[in-house]
Amino acid sequence: MATYGPSERTNLAGDGHEQVTVTRRSPATAGGQLTEELLETDSWTEAMVREAGIPIVKVPFVSIGGGIGAFVTVDYLRIAGVAPDRMRVLSNLDFPWQTYEYLTRVSQIPRGERIRSDSASRPDNIWGFPSYALAEAVRDRTLRPLWQVLVEPIWDDYYTPRAGQMFTGLEREAKRIGYQQMVVQGQVRMVRRCRGGGYFTILTPPSGDAGTQRVAYQSQFVHLAVGYPGLRFLPELQEFRTKQQDFHHVVSAYEDHEHVYEFARAKPAVVMLRGGGIVSSRILQRLMDDRENLDLSTDIVHLFRTYVSGSHGPNAWSRRKGGDGFAYQGFNYPKSVWGGQLKARMRKLEGDQRAAAYKLMGGTNTPRRRSWQAQMRAGRERGWYRTMSGTVDQMMLRDGKVVSQVKTPHGVVDVSADFVIDCTGLEADIAEHRVLADLLQHSGAGRNPLGRLDVERNFVLRGADSGRGVMYASGATTLGGYFPGVDTFLGLQIATQEIADDLAARGFCRRIGPLRSTRQWFRWLFGQEP
Ligand SMILES: Cc1cc2nc3c(=O)[nH]c(=O)nc-3n(C[C@H](O)[C@H](O)[C@H](O)COP(=O)(O)OP(=O)(O)OC[C@H]3O[C@@H](n4cnc5c(N)ncnc54)[C@H](O)[C@@H]3O)c2cc1C
Repeated sequence: MATYGPSERTNLAGDGHEQVTVTRRSPATAGGQLTEELLETDSWTEAMVREAGIPIVKVPFVSIGGGIGAFVTVDYLRIAGVAPDRMRVLSNLDFPWQTYEYLTRVSQIPRGERIRSDSASRPDNIWGFPSYALAEAVRDRTLRPLWQVLVEPIWDDYYTPRAGQMFTGLEREAKRIGYQQMVVQGQVRMVRRCRGGGYFTILTPPSGDAGTQRVAYQSQFVHLAVGYPGLRFLPELQEFRTKQQDFHHVVSAYEDHEHVYEFARAKPAVVMLRGGGIVSSRILQRLMDDRENLDLSTDIVHLFRTYVSGSHGPNAWSRRKGGDGFAYQGFNYPKSVWGGQLKARMRKLEGDQRAAAYKLMGGTNTPRRRSWQAQMRAGRERGWYRTMSGTVDQMMLRDGKVVSQVKTPHGVVDVSADFVIDCTGLEADIAEHRVLADLLQHSGAGRNPLGRLDVERNFVLRGADSGRGVMYASGATTLGGYFPGVDTFLGLQIATQEIADDLAARGFCRRIGPLRSTRQWFRWLFGQEP
C-alpha cells in the first residue's frame, strides 16, 4: 500500500506510521501507553485503562474519521436535536472536505471544475433543496443550470456542481452546527469493547499535546467513517516503483503529479494512461485542454484492461452504453440505487447474489460528456490520442523513458512513454487500515460479500455490539452491503438517515418528522443554529 504525497498534510490511509510502544507500567508511573494486557484483551474495563495511565473522556457518541461521512452524520444528528457536547468527532483532518479536496485537486478537479454527483446531492443540506443548480442559477443570475436539469441527460449532460460551490456550502453548514466544537484532533488507534457495554476509542493526540500519549473516549455509540483504506497500485507499477525507487515517471492520479503537465509544457511528451474510470477521463481532459490551450504536442496512449467497444449487459433493459474503451454511466451506479427499484432489490440480496449484482451495476465507468467526446474524436483523427487493450507484464526504464510490455490480443507490444499515470483506483484491502484490522481481530466485526465491513441494513456493524452499545459504519469501508451508493454524498446521507432512525429508537436523538424537518429547513435557510 502506498502513502500519499509527502508534502501533503492529508493522511488518507489513516493508519499513519505511528509506532505502538508496548509497556508494562505500574499505575504510578504510567504515561498513557497501551499495555500488553490492553493490546491482548478484546474487552476492557475502566480500571484496566486507568491503570495504563490513559485518561478517560466520557461522551455518548463518537464518530471516527472526520471526513464527509462523519460531517454528514453529526449534521443530521444536530438537526435531530443532539447538542454538540454529546458528540465528538475524532479526526486527523483540519476540516471535513480536506481529503476530498486533496483527491479531487490532484485528480484534476480543482475548485472551479465540476464534480460527478448531481444537483440534489448536497452534503451540507439534508433536504437537497434548494439544489445546487437552483443555488447556482440564483447566484449567477442565469437560467442555464435550471435548463440543464430540465433536459438532462437526453439533450444535455447531467448537471453537476462545481467543487468550490460544494466546499463553500460545507463551510457554512459546519459553522452553523458548531462542527469545530465537536472535533478532537488526533489519530485513532483502535476501538475496543467496554465490559458492561459501550466502547473505548483510543486516540493519539498530535505530538506535543501536553505530554498526553493516549486518550480513551468511552461512549455508548461509535460511528466509523474512515474513508479509503489507502492507495493500491497495480502489481507491475508497484514493482517498478519499489525496484527503481522512481516516483517521478510512474505516478498515481491520486498523488500530486503536476510535474507531468509541466514537462509536457516544456517539451513534446508521451503520456500513458492506465484505467477507464472517471479519474482517467479527468486526467485525459487536463492533457487535452493543455494541448489545445497551450498549443502543445503531447501524445497520449490510453491502455484499458477491459476495452469496451459498445453497449453491454445481459439483457435489453439493463444494457449500459459504451465505446472507444469506456463503459458509460452518469453516476457510479444506476440512479435507482439511491432510492428506486434497485435500492429495494439490493436490500433483499445476500452473499454471492449481492456480489454478482454489484458486478453487474458497478465496475469501472465514466460519464459520457460531450466536450470530452469532441476532444477525443479530434485526438483520434489527428493521431495524438491512441487507445489500446491489454495488460502490462513488465515495466522498465530505458533512456529516461518508461517502457511497458503490453500483452495485447495481437501479441506483446513495447510502449515507451515519458510518464505513466495510473488511474486505477483506491482499492486497498480494509485490513490495511489499522483501526479496521483491529476491529476484525478483536471486536467481532466481519466482512461482507465484497470483503469490506459487514453492516446491517441500518448500518449497524454486525457482530460488534457491546451491551447497550452499538457501532455503526458508513462510506467506502462498507461497500458491498445492502446499499451500493454508500460511498457518495447522497449515499452517506441515506446511510445517516438509517443510523439516525436507529439512534432515535434507542432514545439518543429525536425523530425528524414533518414538523421538525420543516422548522429545521427554515433554520438552515436563515443560517440559524439547529
Ligand atoms: C476523486 C474522487 C471524486 C469523487 N467525486 C464524488 C462526487 O462527485 N460525488 C460524490 O457523491 N462522491 C464523490 N466521491 C466519493 C466521496 O469522496 C466519498 O463518498 C466521501 O468523501 C466519503 O467520505 P468519508 O467520510 O467516508 O471519507 P473521507 O472524506 O475520506 O474521510 C475519512 C477520513 O478519516 C480520516 N481517518 C482515517 N483513519 C483515521 C484514523 N485512524 N484516525 C483519525 N482519522 C482517520 C482520514 O483523514 C480520512 O480521509 C469522489 C471520490 C473521489 C476519490
